[in-house]
Amino acid sequence: MKNILVTGGAGFIGSNFILFLLRKHPLINIVNIDKLTYAGELSNLKEVEGYKNYTFVKGDICDRLLIENLFKEYNFSGVIHFAAESHVDNSIKSPNEFINTNVLGTFNLLDVAKNHWMTSPNEFKKNHLESRFLHISTDEVYGTLGEEGLFTEQTPYAPNSPYSASKASSDFIARSYFHTYGLNVVTTNCSNNYGPKQHDEKLIPTIIRKALKGDNIPIYGDGKNIRDWLYVEDHCKGIDLAFNNGMAGETYNIGGKNERNNLYIANTICEILDNVLPKSTSYKTQISFVKDRPGHDYRYAIDASKIESELGWKAQENFETGIRKTIDWYIKKYQG
Ligand code: NAD
Repeated sequence: MKNILVTGGAGFIGSNFILFLLRKHPLINIVNIDKLTYAGELSNLKEVEGYKNYTFVKGDICDRLLIENLFKEYNFSGVIHFAAESHVDNSIKSPNEFINTNVLGTFNLLDVAKNHWMTSPNEFKKNHLESRFLHISTDEVYGTLGEEGLFTEQTPYAPNSPYSASKASSDFIARSYFHTYGLNVVTTNCSNNYGPKQHDEKLIPTIIRKALKGDNIPIYGDGKNIRDWLYVEDHCKGIDLAFNNGMAGETYNIGGKNERNNLYIANTICEILDNVLPKSTSYKTQISFVKDRPGHDYRYAIDASKIESELGWKAQENFETGIRKTIDWYIKKYQG
């Protein structure tokens, strides 16, 4: 049985991914290491607790000895690396942890994997010829777009927040481990995800929670900032494809061609709530504009044609279908 190390699997995307992977590949043994920061939530993993081929380890990816011991114990042949500090607002207030986890933690994992799998540059140990490191990253590394254009894998990096700068640094370290040592690394850069199990602090859970509580729904600036929204399960499918069929050393952009601005998102969620949980006034009356985030990127949009044409990936959901499932899930969470 193949042993795979998943990092940060108690977070939003990681927990969705572990369930997806266990259902799709029953012969894989998953070890999930997560520090359980404020963003890690073991209840996200309730559905996988019963699987015999799943193990949880509470730990920090920056803890070199722990990572080395896990590699010795499980002889991993794959790493799927989600663990990160992921909230831009937090990175503006206190960037330290972003550098520690996103930069040093990623370096630590890459370096231990290299030493465990390889004898020297481009020489893999016999039983690790296929071993692969999948690094999960974001489209935010490319900086911001104007009204036109899309991020391709060739777009120069221009990160603008401490979060995106730390992710860009980790992408470069991953890249260097392929080019210098020949480590089998694949990187994915994905647009904004949404769906069940996302932390309360993020935009869509915040809109739904505040709407349901009757609070003001805070929208930065004029609400015109655009993101390319992807339903989390579509991201999981892209990660699985990139891990199994991607080319070593390549990067793949993942995005669902669902550009929507923040005000549209808030209005759409309010309209759906007006239908499913009507009250005397529309939820839209709660939308209120607040002071913009410093350095707020205007627009992100992904050209996903490489992963579509080379690996056969395609998003199943558009924003309007995915958001309904998401709202149902959060209504149960917040009112259930
Ligand atoms: P999240 O914040 O929900 O989860 C991160 C997880 O990592 C948490 O469970 C946390 O406890 C864990 N973690 C943090 N520091 C750790 C450490 N030092 N050691 C071990 N575990 C640690 O994040 P997410 O939204 O699920 O994002 C997962 C990955 O996907 C990140 O690398 C992020 O940059 C990337 N990404 C996210 C999005 C998005 O829209 N959410 C989009 C593109 C890429």
